[in-house]
Amino acid sequence: MTDTRTRSSASTGNRAAAEVLRGLGDIRSDLEDIYEDLHAHPELSHQEHRTAGKVADRLRSWGYETHTGVGGTGVVGVLHNGEGPVVLLRADMDALPVKEDTGLPYASTVTVQDASGTTVPVAHACGHDMHVTCLLGAVRLLSERTGSWAGTLVALFQPAEETGNGAGAMVDGGLADLVPKPDVALAQHVLPYPAGYVGTRSGPFLSAADTLRVTLHGRGAHGSAPQAAVDPVVMAAMTVVRLQTIVSRELAATTPGVLTVGAINSGTSGNVIPDTAEIQLNVRTYDDGTRQHVLGSVRRIVRAECEASEATGEPEFEEISRFPPTVNDACVTERVSKAFAAHFDGADTIDLQTASEDFSDIPHALGTPFTY
Ligand code: ZN
Repeated sequence: MTDTRTRSSASTGNRAAAEVLRGLGDIRSDLEDIYEDLHAHPELSHQEHRTAGKVADRLRSWGYETHTGVGGTGVVGVLHNGEGPVVLLRADMDALPVKEDTGLPYASTVTVQDASGTTVPVAHACGHDMHVTCLLGAVRLLSERTGSWAGTLVALFQPAEETGNGAGAMVDGGLADLVPKPDVALAQHVLPYPAGYVGTRSGPFLSAADTLRVTLHGRGAHGSAPQAAVDPVVMAAMTVVRLQTIVSRELAATTPGVLTVGAINSGTSGNVIPDTAEIQLNVRTYDDGTRQHVLGSVRRIVRAECEASEATGEPEFEEISRFPPTVNDACVTERVSKAFAAHFDGADTIDLQTASEDFSDIPHALGTPFTY
């Protein structure tokens, strides 16, 4: 009984999707124009003013109730279309401080000042221009074919995914008061896979990522008199080596995790022992228990190495960025995966990724199941 209903609702859904998708050919060249325009005008995290303006203009022109300035530069469009589920679709809008060298006619030549005042090149090197284009295409088709579906569509254009705090900014900016509670939330990312391939994955999919700056305090002295110093360079070196035992010795072989020390800075001269050393490290994990374990071990080992070296002060820990783990809901993922299989030849399960995303901060705050 349940099976029959599920099958019949799935085939109704597939028919509706096919009906909506029939309009794709008519809007393809407009979507290409949008894509090339966004690609040529990339904007850094929290600076997506032009992109947000373009998105909001289009949402309004297609009849969406439109909210701008959500969490800074976020935009939300809502389309009510009778009784039915509330579905939230999300795209991220920001670009990266990277120089584009593709030679494309619409390549970015943009440079801007970043938050620290440094002039940097900007490019859509992560594909968020494609995400915005795809979501604009979806919301336009759905607004033009309201006879083929019923419910409420929430189109969410998020700022600052790259810095890991745009989703949280939209939540803090009152998102829950602007939209009805979604029954389901969906988001996507382009990946370097063959064209025509789409993938889903149930359960853990993207890693949590935590970047920390750790400052170690020693005592400087002339390089000829180490007995007068507490050498922070040695302290940092021992700490880096010991940190490598967390993943290799504390996690089970079946539990994935990464700990990388990507920066170690101390001193300026070969014969002067400096006062302090700084380590920057990045941790990637796939569930909250492992994440808490690894971050706790980082602090324990840093403190213990400081103690072993007779450090002159407590080590300082500063969170530079933090991304939550992305764990896809099994039921939602199965439904999306079946819909993909009905429409695409290249639909498959995708590998676990060590990339990270802040999207899940939004459905978590709204109490909504999701798949990415
Ligand atoms: Zn991205």
